[in-house]
Amino acid sequence: MDNLRFYIQTFGCQMNDHDSAVLARLLEEQGHLEVETAEGADVILLNTCAIRERAEQKVYSQLGRYRFLKEKRPEIVLGVGGCVAQGEGRKVLRRAPYVDLVFGTRTLHRVPELVEAVRSGRRQVVATALDDDPVALATLYAHAAGRGPRAYVTVMQGCDNYCAYCVVPYVRGRELSRPADELVEEVRRLAAEGVVEVTLLGQNVNSYGQKPPGEVDFPSLLRHVAAVDGIRRVRFTTSHPKDLSDDLIRAFAEVPGVMPHIHLPVQSGADRVLTAMNRRYTVAHYLGLVERLRRLRPDIALTSDLIVGFPGETDAEFEATLALMEQVVFDGLFSFKYSLRPGTRAAELTDPVPEAVKEERLARLQRLQGEHSLRRNRAMEGQVFSVLVEGGSKVGDGQVMGRTPQNKIVNFAGEVAWRAREVPVRVTAAAVNSSRGEAVGPAG
Ligand code: SF4
Repeated sequence: MDNLRFYIQTFGCQMNDHDSAVLARLLEEQGHLEVETAEGADVILLNTCAIRERAEQKVYSQLGRYRFLKEKRPEIVLGVGGCVAQGEGRKVLRRAPYVDLVFGTRTLHRVPELVEAVRSGRRQVVATALDDDPVALATLYAHAAGRGPRAYVTVMQGCDNYCAYCVVPYVRGRELSRPADELVEEVRRLAAEGVVEVTLLGQNVNSYGQKPPGEVDFPSLLRHVAAVDGIRRVRFTTSHPKDLSDDLIRAFAEVPGVMPHIHLPVQSGADRVLTAMNRRYTVAHYLGLVERLRRLRPDIALTSDLIVGFPGETDAEFEATLALMEQVVFDGLFSFKYSLRPGTRAAELTDPVPEAVKEERLARLQRLQGEHSLRRNRAMEGQVFSVLVEGGSKVGDGQVMGRTPQNKIVNFAGEVAWRAREVPVRVTAAAVNSSRGEAVGPAG
């Protein structure tokens, strides 16, 4: 096989970012070279996201732009993977007939071979089986190392929850946990390569170990990972509120290395909407979890996801969501207007919220969250945090950027050589998305 220059464009979530990093590593190991722009690439791969309608449209308009590159250089291999590709399969070729390769969320490990199949026969290839070869995929994840002080580790694939608005169970397949010993081995290898912080990734890590049965549960996995020599920080995402156990909540207080931040998507502050979304918890249950988390780990940061304009959401139900925000005061929030995804249960609901109402609700919600994020960040001013330095900062020369245990970004005067080390930093000025600080001790 020739040595090719490849370019990967990633849309969507951390899971996709991680898949792209794994794919890049796999292609590099075959002797190919990652490049920064599509213009100079022999292989262009889009790793797509289907969560929102607009994300899908973005993919097709981006493909339209790559079409011009292919017209100039027909030998380019243009591939589409990820959730849109998984959901659409061959339909991608109908909408964008100049695409050469469609690969799915569980055929990542086959991409080098598929690219070669396209190149050798100049034919279109579609490989989107969800049960392709789970062992080969798991081996690929186990083999893909992180770069820099932080790395992601995919602990499970897929999701069985079928929230009414969500396409993930259809495009990422059934829930499947990776064996714990393999994961711990992967974390050991990452630590040996200089990684000090790992984030365990899954659509719902709280149900880790249930499918297939026989594995340890998630709190136990967390304890094993945190015990690996060299690993100083452990994070995880995402947690489903219906599965957040007392044991896992206790891990925040009991397991050194488990960082005080949890992303706990609530989605709505109204019980009727939560039921319609098939979330299987109530607002009271959610608030109970928040109360327990904060009682056991008072410095914990809480972030969440909220959807506005789910079909049938009334003004009063939206006000209930704002009331929940006032009660919790989240550190950060990902908020979205509901968008219909074909094939999901919510697609059958007949009482859509008008677009203008959704927009107005989203704007109100985001204004309120802006105030809350600032309030939570200002509470950090004057306090000293251990900041893990990730590298140079965008804010200017002589500044480095790192994260507090709560996952908050702090910029301060320092040296890039401090990368992967923890520095005590006093926060001097907080803003909505990041803070400024000053080092008050040596890098450890
Ligand atoms: S838990 Fe619900 S929202 Fe999350 S991936 Fe699964 S179905 Fe989608």
